[in-house]
Amino acid sequence: MNLILLGPPGAGKGTQAAKIIEKYNIPHISTGDIFRENIKNGTELGKRAQEYMNKGQLVPDELVVEIATDRLNKDDCKDGFLLDGFPRTVFQAEELDKFLEAKGAKIDHVLDIDVDRDELMRRLTGRRVCKKCGASFHIVNIPPKKEGICDVCGDELVQRADDNEETAANRIEVYNKETKPLIDYYEKAGNIHHLDGTVGLENLFANITEIVGE
Ligand code: AMP
Repeated sequence: MNLILLGPPGAGKGTQAAKIIEKYNIPHISTGDIFRENIKNGTELGKRAQEYMNKGQLVPDELVVEIATDRLNKDDCKDGFLLDGFPRTVFQAEELDKFLEAKGAKIDHVLDIDVDRDELMRRLTGRRVCKKCGASFHIVNIPPKKEGICDVCGDELVQRADDNEETAANRIEVYNKETKPLIDYYEKAGNIHHLDGTVGLENLFANITEIVGE
Protein backbone atom coordinates (compact mmCIF):
# COMPACT_ATOMS: atom_id res chain seq x y z
CA MET A 1 0.00 0.00 0.00
CA ASN A 2 1.66 3.23 -1.16
CA LEU A 3 0.09 6.30 0.42
CA ILE A 4 0.57 10.06 0.40
CA LEU A 5 -0.69 12.41 3.11
CA LEU A 6 -1.37 15.82 1.63
CA GLY A 7 -2.58 18.95 3.37
CA PRO A 8 -1.37 22.24 4.83
CA PRO A 9 0.97 22.42 7.80
CA GLY A 10 -1.12 21.87 10.92
CA ALA A 11 -3.75 19.72 9.18
CA GLY A 12 -2.85 16.77 11.41
CA LYS A 13 -0.75 14.76 8.96
CA GLY A 14 1.79 13.74 11.59
CA THR A 15 -0.88 12.60 14.06
CA GLN A 16 -2.68 10.55 11.41
CA ALA A 17 0.62 9.20 10.11
CA ALA A 18 1.40 7.66 13.50
CA LYS A 19 -1.95 5.84 13.48
CA ILE A 20 -1.75 4.77 9.83
CA ILE A 21 1.70 3.22 10.07
CA GLU A 22 0.67 1.28 13.16
CA LYS A 23 -2.44 -0.13 11.53
CA TYR A 24 -0.95 -0.93 8.12
CA ASN A 25 2.57 -1.69 9.28
CA ILE A 26 4.31 0.47 6.69
CA PRO A 27 7.20 2.93 7.19
CA HIS A 28 6.47 6.62 7.79
CA ILE A 29 8.54 8.81 5.49
CA SER A 30 8.48 12.44 6.53
CA THR A 31 10.99 14.62 4.71
CA GLY A 32 10.54 17.23 7.47
CA ASP A 33 11.54 14.63 10.10
CA ILE A 34 14.56 13.62 8.02
CA PHE A 35 15.68 17.27 7.83
CA ARG A 36 15.09 17.84 11.57
CA GLU A 37 17.11 14.72 12.40
CA ASN A 38 19.95 16.03 10.23
CA ILE A 39 19.79 19.44 11.90
CA LYS A 40 19.96 17.77 15.32
CA ASN A 41 23.00 15.76 14.23
CA GLY A 42 24.70 18.81 12.68
CA THR A 43 25.12 17.24 9.22
CA GLU A 44 25.86 19.18 6.05
CA LEU A 45 22.36 18.35 4.74
CA GLY A 46 20.89 19.68 7.99
CA LYS A 47 22.78 22.94 7.63
CA ARG A 48 21.55 23.43 4.07
CA ALA A 49 17.94 22.58 4.92
CA GLN A 50 17.83 24.73 8.07
CA GLU A 51 18.27 28.00 6.18
CA TYR A 52 15.02 27.37 4.33
CA MET A 53 13.09 25.72 7.14
CA ASN A 54 13.65 28.55 9.61
CA LYS A 55 12.00 30.96 7.19
CA GLY A 56 9.14 28.60 6.39
CA GLN A 57 10.38 28.22 2.82
CA LEU A 58 10.64 25.00 0.86
CA VAL A 59 13.98 23.24 0.66
CA PRO A 60 15.05 23.14 -3.05
CA ASP A 61 13.38 20.39 -5.07
CA GLU A 62 16.55 18.59 -6.19
CA LEU A 63 17.73 18.14 -2.62
CA VAL A 64 14.34 16.91 -1.39
CA VAL A 65 13.85 14.48 -4.27
CA GLU A 66 17.25 12.94 -3.64
CA ILE A 67 16.56 12.51 0.09
CA ALA A 68 13.09 11.06 -0.51
CA THR A 69 14.07 8.62 -3.26
CA ASP A 70 17.10 7.43 -1.25
CA ARG A 71 14.75 6.65 1.59
CA LEU A 72 12.21 4.96 -0.73
CA ASN A 73 14.96 2.73 -2.09
CA LYS A 74 15.41 1.13 1.33
CA ASP A 75 14.21 -2.42 1.78
CA ASP A 76 11.46 -1.62 4.26
CA CYS A 77 9.55 0.34 1.56
CA LYS A 78 9.17 -2.69 -0.71
CA ASP A 79 5.68 -3.57 0.52
CA GLY A 80 4.39 -0.06 0.97
CA PHE A 81 5.05 3.30 2.56
CA LEU A 82 3.37 6.44 3.83
CA LEU A 83 4.72 9.73 2.53
CA ASP A 84 4.08 12.72 4.79
CA GLY A 85 5.17 16.17 3.62
CA PHE A 86 6.47 14.85 0.30
CA PRO A 87 5.79 15.65 -2.52
CA ARG A 88 5.21 19.35 -1.92
CA THR A 89 5.57 20.69 -5.48
CA VAL A 90 4.41 19.48 -8.88
CA PHE A 91 8.07 18.90 -9.82
CA GLN A 92 8.52 16.61 -6.80
CA ALA A 93 5.31 14.73 -7.68
CA GLU A 94 6.48 14.20 -11.26
CA GLU A 95 9.88 12.97 -10.07
CA LEU A 96 8.19 10.63 -7.60
CA ASP A 97 5.98 9.21 -10.35
CA LYS A 98 9.00 8.62 -12.60
CA PHE A 99 10.83 6.93 -9.75
CA LEU A 100 7.89 4.64 -8.96
CA GLU A 101 7.14 3.90 -12.59
CA ALA A 102 10.69 2.66 -13.10
CA LYS A 103 10.03 0.16 -10.31
CA GLY A 104 6.64 -0.84 -11.68
CA ALA A 105 4.98 0.76 -8.65
CA LYS A 106 2.43 3.55 -8.17
CA ILE A 107 0.68 5.61 -5.53
CA ASP A 108 -2.54 3.89 -4.41
CA HIS A 109 -4.19 6.73 -2.47
CA VAL A 110 -3.54 10.41 -1.87
CA LEU A 111 -5.23 11.50 1.36
CA ASP A 112 -5.85 15.24 1.25
CA ILE A 113 -6.71 16.69 4.66
CA ASP A 114 -8.39 20.09 4.64
CA VAL A 115 -8.49 22.62 7.51
CA ASP A 116 -9.20 26.38 7.31
CA ARG A 117 -6.46 28.94 7.87
CA ASP A 118 -7.53 30.28 11.29
CA GLU A 119 -7.65 26.78 12.71
CA LEU A 120 -4.27 25.93 11.15
CA MET A 121 -2.69 28.97 12.82
CA ARG A 122 -4.19 28.01 16.20
CA ARG A 123 -2.90 24.47 15.83
CA LEU A 124 0.60 25.39 14.66
CA THR A 125 1.34 28.09 17.22
CA GLY A 126 -0.05 25.93 20.07
CA ARG A 127 1.81 22.79 19.04
CA ARG A 128 4.49 21.42 21.36
CA VAL A 129 6.67 18.46 20.46
CA CYS A 130 8.85 16.18 22.52
CA LYS A 131 12.56 16.91 22.12
CA LYS A 132 13.38 13.24 22.40
CA CYS A 133 10.63 11.05 20.88
CA GLY A 134 8.88 13.62 18.67
CA ALA A 135 5.39 13.01 20.15
CA SER A 136 3.11 15.93 19.39
CA PHE A 137 0.83 17.84 21.81
CA HIS A 138 -1.18 21.06 21.80
CA ILE A 139 -1.40 23.51 24.68
CA VAL A 140 -5.22 23.59 24.41
CA ASN A 141 -6.42 20.70 22.22
CA ILE A 142 -4.11 17.89 23.37
CA PRO A 143 -2.45 19.11 26.57
CA PRO A 144 0.14 16.80 28.13
CA LYS A 145 -0.72 15.44 31.61
CA LYS A 146 2.06 17.57 33.08
CA GLU A 147 2.79 20.95 31.48
CA GLY A 148 5.93 20.92 29.35
CA ILE A 149 6.55 17.18 29.84
CA CYS A 150 6.04 14.41 27.28
CA ASP A 151 3.37 11.84 28.28
CA VAL A 152 5.15 9.18 26.24
CA CYS A 153 8.78 9.39 27.36
CA GLY A 154 8.94 12.07 30.07
CA ASP A 155 11.33 14.36 28.19
CA GLU A 156 10.86 18.09 27.65
CA LEU A 157 8.26 19.54 25.26
CA VAL A 158 9.41 22.38 23.02
CA GLN A 159 7.98 24.55 20.26
CA ARG A 160 9.29 23.73 16.79
CA ALA A 161 11.49 26.56 15.49
CA ASP A 162 9.12 27.04 12.55
CA ASP A 163 5.87 27.05 14.59
CA ASN A 164 6.15 30.71 15.64
CA GLU A 165 3.42 33.03 14.29
CA GLU A 166 5.41 34.58 11.44
CA THR A 167 6.97 31.38 10.11
CA ALA A 168 3.73 29.42 10.48
CA ALA A 169 1.86 32.07 8.44
CA ASN A 170 4.55 31.89 5.79
CA ARG A 171 4.37 28.08 5.65
CA ILE A 172 0.62 28.25 5.02
CA GLU A 173 1.18 30.79 2.25
CA VAL A 174 3.89 28.60 0.68
CA TYR A 175 1.51 25.63 0.89
CA ASN A 176 -1.24 27.54 -0.96
CA LYS A 177 1.15 28.65 -3.66
CA GLU A 178 3.43 25.64 -4.17
CA THR A 179 1.66 22.57 -2.82
CA LYS A 180 -2.05 23.16 -3.46
CA PRO A 181 -1.56 22.69 -7.23
CA LEU A 182 -0.82 19.06 -6.36
CA ILE A 183 -4.52 18.59 -5.68
CA ASP A 184 -5.18 19.16 -9.38
CA TYR A 185 -2.25 16.94 -10.31
CA TYR A 186 -3.66 13.98 -8.35
CA GLU A 187 -7.22 14.83 -9.35
CA LYS A 188 -6.12 14.10 -12.92
CA ALA A 189 -4.48 10.89 -11.77
CA GLY A 190 -7.81 9.98 -10.13
CA ASN A 191 -6.44 8.68 -6.83
CA ILE A 192 -7.07 11.61 -4.47
CA HIS A 193 -9.56 11.62 -1.57
CA HIS A 194 -10.61 14.79 0.25
CA LEU A 195 -10.99 14.62 4.01
CA ASP A 196 -12.31 17.14 6.52
CA GLY A 197 -9.50 17.62 9.05
CA THR A 198 -11.77 19.16 11.72
CA VAL A 199 -13.91 16.12 12.58
CA GLY A 200 -11.65 14.96 15.43
CA LEU A 201 -8.66 12.71 15.12
CA GLU A 202 -10.49 9.40 15.69
CA ASN A 203 -13.21 10.25 13.16
CA LEU A 204 -10.62 11.39 10.66
CA PHE A 205 -8.72 8.15 11.12
CA ALA A 206 -11.93 6.15 10.63
CA ASN A 207 -12.56 8.04 7.39
CA ILE A 208 -9.03 7.25 6.25
CA THR A 209 -9.33 3.52 6.99
CA GLU A 210 -12.59 3.45 5.09
CA ILE A 211 -10.69 4.62 2.00
CA VAL A 212 -7.55 2.52 2.47
CA GLY A 213 -9.44 -0.58 3.58
CA GLU A 214 -8.78 -3.11 6.32
P1 AMP B 1 7.13 19.48 7.82
O1 AMP B 1 7.66 18.80 9.02
O2 AMP B 1 6.59 18.51 6.79
O3 AMP B 1 6.16 20.58 8.15
O4 AMP B 1 8.37 20.20 7.10
C1 AMP B 1 9.10 21.21 7.75
C2 AMP B 1 9.91 22.01 6.74
O5 AMP B 1 10.85 21.14 6.08
C3 AMP B 1 9.13 22.65 5.62
O6 AMP B 1 8.57 23.90 6.01
C4 AMP B 1 10.21 22.80 4.55
O7 AMP B 1 11.08 23.87 4.84
C5 AMP B 1 11.01 21.51 4.72
N1 AMP B 1 10.44 20.42 3.88
C6 AMP B 1 9.92 19.24 4.31
N2 AMP B 1 9.49 18.49 3.28
C7 AMP B 1 9.73 19.22 2.17
C8 AMP B 1 9.48 19.01 0.78
N3 AMP B 1 8.88 17.90 0.33
N4 AMP B 1 9.86 19.99 -0.09
C9 AMP B 1 10.46 21.11 0.33
N5 AMP B 1 10.70 21.38 1.63
C10 AMP B 1 10.35 20.45 2.54
